[in-house]
Amino acid sequence: MSFEKLGLSENLLKAIADCGYDKPTPIQEGAIPHILMARDVVGLAQTGTGKTASFTLPMIEILAGGRAKARMPRSLILTPTRELAAQVAENFDTYGKYSKLTKALLTGGVSMEEQIKLLERGVDVLIATPGRLLDLFERGKILLTDIKILVIDEADRMMDMGFIPDIEKIVGLLSPIRQTLLFSATMPPEIKKLTQKFQSNPKEISVAPPATTSKNVEQFIVETSPRQKQDVLARLIEREKVQNAFIFCNRKRDIDGLTRYLQGKGYDAKGMHGDMVQKVRSETLEAFKAGKISLLVCSDVAARGLDVQGLSHVFNFDVPFNADDYVHRIGRTGRAGLTGHAWMLVTPADNKHLAAIEKLTKQDIQRVALEESKAEKSPRKSKPRHDDKPPKPPKKQAPANKRTDADDQDDGDVKGFGSDIPSFFG
Ligand code: AMP
Repeated sequence: MSFEKLGLSENLLKAIADCGYDKPTPIQEGAIPHILMARDVVGLAQTGTGKTASFTLPMIEILAGGRAKARMPRSLILTPTRELAAQVAENFDTYGKYSKLTKALLTGGVSMEEQIKLLERGVDVLIATPGRLLDLFERGKILLTDIKILVIDEADRMMDMGFIPDIEKIVGLLSPIRQTLLFSATMPPEIKKLTQKFQSNPKEISVAPPATTSKNVEQFIVETSPRQKQDVLARLIEREKVQNAFIFCNRKRDIDGLTRYLQGKGYDAKGMHGDMVQKVRSETLEAFKAGKISLLVCSDVAARGLDVQGLSHVFNFDVPFNADDYVHRIGRTGRAGLTGHAWMLVTPADNKHLAAIEKLTKQDIQRVALEESKAEKSPRKSKPRHDDKPPKPPKKQAPANKRTDADDQDDGDVKGFGSDIPSFFG
């Protein structure tokens, strides 16, 4: 199937060609024709599957025909986090570059002044987090009665973050005559109920079973102790020739400590979590995307939806409490057809959470003992419980940016790394 066959106009096909996409992804192929026919759609798709384009492309097509009125946006996209909202907005800029649609990004943590000015001029597309949207509505700065298309993105994440009452309130402010698109990586009963409440005879499109990990991500575990975790992480970063990585911690307070530790080792590391002001979060993410920072130590605020081209590694410094979060965290790597690498540090206290992850993802993740020498290493691969294909060997990576090489080398008691790596994996 080609993009031409999906019923998109010349301007969009040109923008898609500029992106270098050859053909639609399965969620795009499944969703776009139905959205263009004005049907409600439930898209069961993980991030990394091209789901954002699956709704932005047809929305641009549909909205191209009309004009926005002051303070009355024509479409609304709700996302759980500011980062995801910014990413959806980027998608509109990329795919809408040959159309004249206007958009406003309404997220918290930044001044309302600019947002209000945009709203007063009239916008076609509103991309918002629920809190800021309600805030502006309550101040009388926005009318939602003209919304013809509503998108609820990452609905399961919205639920985890406690946004469902806000979503219900927002949907109550909209006209019942509208098209509603809901995307979610998983379909717990609460989300199912929402679709029944908000949608009319939706077409369901599912492109990957819930909670499956991408085949493009090589997954490994290192068993360690709480005291040795930082040291083990540093050794892994060194040995894996990490180009850039997200390093996930469960607690915000651990992010600062680990960031300082890595900076002390000479790495370009920065922390990112939900308590930081939005400006700093955005700047940090931009610096990471631009390659000025190679290690982002983060909370689950970065686990969903963030798309960094070519992220080589994800490290779970902590085993996530919620097994779903594991799937989302490691989904940041191995995107757009590239091979990614996900490592997790596991202490004896984590066994319960690890068991939940392996049960959810139906696999036994490969344990790697760092102390093993090359000769002793038996490359037992992560064993999918329902799929016997062995994972592909990871590609070699250029090392993460380090300010100095000489002073901070951490050999520890680890022998045989560095030059062993390719043969171990190969
Ligand atoms: P998403 O699932 O929306 O986060 O998209 C993941 C990545 O896939 C983004 O980097 C998109 O630019 C990219 N992408 C979207 N559609 C396609 C396509 N048809 N072919 C190749 N890459 C795509």
